[in-house]
Amino acid sequence: MINKLQQLEKDALAELAAAKTEDQFLNIKTKYLGRKGLLTGLLRNIAQVSDEEKPLFGKLCNEVKNSLNAKIDEVLQQQASRNREDILSREKIDVTLPGKYVPSGRIHPVVQIRREICSVFASFGFSIVEGPEIELDYYNFEALNIPKDHPARDMQDTFYIEDNIVLRTHTSPVQVRVMEKIQPPLRILSPGKVYRRDSDVSHTPMFHQIEGLLVDKGVTFADLKGILTAFLKKIFGDGTMLRFRPSFFPFTEPSAEVDIHCVMCGGNGCRVCGQSGWLEILGSGMVDPEVFKNVHYDPEVYTGFAFGLGLERIAMLKYGISDIRLFFENDIRFLKQF
Ligand SMILES: [Zn+2]
Repeated sequence: MINKLQQLEKDALAELAAAKTEDQFLNIKTKYLGRKGLLTGLLRNIAQVSDEEKPLFGKLCNEVKNSLNAKIDEVLQQQASRNREDILSREKIDVTLPGKYVPSGRIHPVVQIRREICSVFASFGFSIVEGPEIELDYYNFEALNIPKDHPARDMQDTFYIEDNIVLRTHTSPVQVRVMEKIQPPLRILSPGKVYRRDSDVSHTPMFHQIEGLLVDKGVTFADLKGILTAFLKKIFGDGTMLRFRPSFFPFTEPSAEVDIHCVMCGGNGCRVCGQSGWLEILGSGMVDPEVFKNVHYDPEVYTGFAFGLGLERIAMLKYGISDIRLFFENDIRFLKQF
C-alpha cells in the first residue's frame, strides 16, 4: 500500500508537470484529491494495511495530500500570473486613434433669453418666484378681475382640466399667490410655461412668459415707464426706440402695450413689422384696485405696476427667427446656432 501511495504521488507530479492549462490543473486536483479521487480511494482501503503500518500509512497519506495540494495551488498561481502578463503584453493602447465624439448640449435660446431677462430684473431688485402650471380658475381668472362672464375670457383659448381647474393661460396667477402671502413692498418676476389653444407660425399651445410685479407706496406710471425702458434698452441695446401705446387688460388700469422700433428694418417698415416700423414687445399697466382688494391690499395705500411678455417672441425678434415652432422641434441644426 505504501508503494502504491508513493507511485500515486509520482504519477500526480508527472501529470502536473505535463499539464498546461488551469482546467488541466483542476482536473488533476479532482482526480487525486477529490471526494472520489485516487488518494481518497487508497485511504478507504486502509483496512488492507497491517496494524503496525497503519499509523505510518495514515501519516504518509496526509503528507502526500498536503504536498499535492500545495503544489497544485502553486502552479495555479503561476498560471494566473502568466495569464495576466500575457494579457498585458497583447493589449496595447493606441494613442494615435481618434477619440470618441461626445456631443455637447447647448442652452436653448428660450432659456438663454429667460436667464438674460431674469438677470436684468434681479439687478433692479426683483426676486424670481414660480407657481403651478395647473391652476385654479380663481387664480387664473377671478382674482385677476376676470369673472366668469367677462369677455376677456374669450381672448384666451383655455385648456380646461375640470370646470374650475385650467392649464394657466398666463403667468399672472403667480402675482396673486405671492400677494396673498406677502405684504408690500414687493418686486417679483415670475417666468414659466403657459398654455393656450393656438398653433401657427407665431403661436404654440405651450409657450413661455415672464410676469413682473412691483407694489409699494407711491408707485406711479412713471416708475413703470422708467423700469421697462431701462429693461428693454438692456435687452435690445441702448439706442432702442420705444413707445407706450394705450391698451386694455382686465387686471391693470391704465394699461399700455410697449413697442420697440422694428429690429429687422430699424423702423422703416418691413414684412416682420407689417410695414409699421414698430414691434409689440410687452403688455403692462398699473395694477387694478380690484386685484388689490382680492388679496386684501389697501388700494388707497398701495399702488403698483405689472407687465408680461412672451419669451419666444423676444427670442424670435432678437435672433431673427420667423417660425416659433422651430423652438420646439428640437432640431439640433437649429439649436446649435445659439
Ligand atoms: Zn420692420
